[in-house]
Amino acid sequence: MKALIFNGKLTFVTNMPIPEPPKDEALIKILMVGICNTDIEITKGYMNFQGIPGHEFVGIVENVNNADKSWIGKRVVGDINCACGNDNCEYCIKNLGRHCPNRTTLGISERNGCFAEYITLPINNLLEVPQKITDEIATLTEPLAAGFEILEQINITKKHEVLIVGDGKLGLLINHALSTTSAKITHVGKHKEKLDIALKNGSKTVLLNQMPDKLFDVVVEVTGSMSGFEFSLKHTKPRGTLILKSTIAANQKIDLTPVVVNEISVIGSRCGLFKPALNYIEQNPNPLSEFIEAVYPAENALSAFEHAKRRGSMKVLIDFR
Ligand SMILES: [Zn+2]
Ligand SMILES: [Zn+2]
Repeated sequence: MKALIFNGKLTFVTNMPIPEPPKDEALIKILMVGICNTDIEITKGYMNFQGIPGHEFVGIVENVNNADKSWIGKRVVGDINCACGNDNCEYCIKNLGRHCPNRTTLGISERNGCFAEYITLPINNLLEVPQKITDEIATLTEPLAAGFEILEQINITKKHEVLIVGDGKLGLLINHALSTTSAKITHVGKHKEKLDIALKNGSKTVLLNQMPDKLFDVVVEVTGSMSGFEFSLKHTKPRGTLILKSTIAANQKIDLTPVVVNEISVIGSRCGLFKPALNYIEQNPNPLSEFIEAVYPAENALSAFEHAKRRGSMKVLIDFR
């Protein structure tokens, strides 16, 4: 099969063997995949991952290694965290498989990912994609789920004033997720044309250099930069909540004094449940089409990767159909 492989260097090959699904897993024929910043980080050594990267996919179940054949032929997306599922795993029994210490993660840790014609994934991870959602938009389920994760972690109501810091793809998908609450949302970033997506969602938008000295109950940091973290901390109210969506701490000195003095709750936030994201996409497929910037055929997967690295690019997809 065709695949993109990373082993210190990213290469496109056409002779990878098609994987065999282990017990209770499905063999999925990939239709389309999205390139994520995490994939770009992997090519710089993140997680020391070697193999096939990629975790944002939509595909068709071609076979299952299980007696229940009902999934065969269904178009699916799937949770990328593959938990151990053991009865004696304290995380799995609490339905926190995304934190199972023995998990593998599609295209990120100990499991080949979806930049290939086929993958295998546990049947329990799969969700059927409603017919009206296109393959292109279905690839957004995973990053949008990361936005909805915030709502699993804290209760945001109309009493809250929320600030989202950063107008990249993930920041804007988080805007879509949080716009389902009745909170007053302000979105700050550096690009007017990107902020216009948040504006259409009913948020107030502010350019970074015009940001007033205002404090917020909940601040979501999605810039991936140290200056973005400091900015976010500075705009969080005493006793407020700061949500970190990017792993900025690597090799940085951080002054956490304001966290103590202002008694700020800091919440780390990563992957989310697919169901709320898929429901949202089903109801709002059109606005999300703004997130798709380009689609490349599988043979041009390396060019797609180069495109995705451009600053400020929206989603770049690879078509394996
Ligand atoms: Zn991703
Ligand atoms: Zn487990």
